[in-house]
Amino acid sequence: MPLKVYINGKLYDKDDAKVSVYDHGLLYGDGVFEGIRSYGGKVFRLKEHLDRLWYSAKAILLEIPISKAEMAKAIEDTLAVNGITDGYIRAVVTRGCGTLGLDPNKCSDPQVIIITDRIELYPPELYKQGLEIITVSTVRNHPAALSPRIKSLNYLNNILAKIEGLQAGCIEALMLNCRGEVAECTGDNLFLVREGRVLTPPTEAGILEGITRDAVIALLRKQGTVVEETPLTKHDVYVADECFLTGTAAEVVPVVKVDSRPIGRGIPGPLTRDLIERFHELTRS
Ligand code: PMP
Repeated sequence: MPLKVYINGKLYDKDDAKVSVYDHGLLYGDGVFEGIRSYGGKVFRLKEHLDRLWYSAKAILLEIPISKAEMAKAIEDTLAVNGITDGYIRAVVTRGCGTLGLDPNKCSDPQVIIITDRIELYPPELYKQGLEIITVSTVRNHPAALSPRIKSLNYLNNILAKIEGLQAGCIEALMLNCRGEVAECTGDNLFLVREGRVLTPPTEAGILEGITRDAVIALLRKQGTVVEETPLTKHDVYVADECFLTGTAAEVVPVVKVDSRPIGRGIPGPLTRDLIERFHELTRS
């Protein structure tokens, strides 16, 4: 049976799930989205994802035409109809159909789309061996131009960084901000471990406030580990004892090499390995 996709209250077969070529989501990347996981039939951190979606929409003056409760129900129903218990959910709200000009006031029908699908995971050996990444020349969006806190449909900044990473043979890439500080990776937040303390760039560094990032910070603090949200430089990364990334799809993934420099001993460190276990328990419990 083909996967069903939710659009504006109706379910369509995947191949028939379409939006207009006049939708400003397509023409201008004018819209917002969320990537969410479901584990064992339970949607992980649904409230947090909906809150972030609504904040993103508010920041771009886009009114989502349904309530959070309706969106939550639509997500649960779409998962159920597709028989997905462990999967990935993409919630999208576009500005809707307009004219060919920019004016969002001429768009009258925001499209609310929910796709539920199998999840594309990083290869399992990466979690054992760790990932190699590079710092790319594409600077993360200036927060005063387009805040990285908005999860908008315009992901070109990240895509350009991803292309640079892929050209260097890396599936993730580290982006710096306009001040030259560490911001985040193309689709993941970054953490370092130094002398038992965990460090991660603050929101002001120009990052998406990852839901996994928040969950990991809470897990670490609960076990008494000090976590500092503090500006970081490439130098901090190079001399860290451990490095790991967090994201909805990636969960917690160790980084063992950055810009050809081994991080710590060049293998996943003990804190990261323990955290992977504990995050696993959190999501699968
Ligand atoms: N940064 C960026 C740019 C992202 O796209 C993502 C993935 N949504 C993240 C960080 C991680 O956020 P989350 O843990 O909410 O998936």
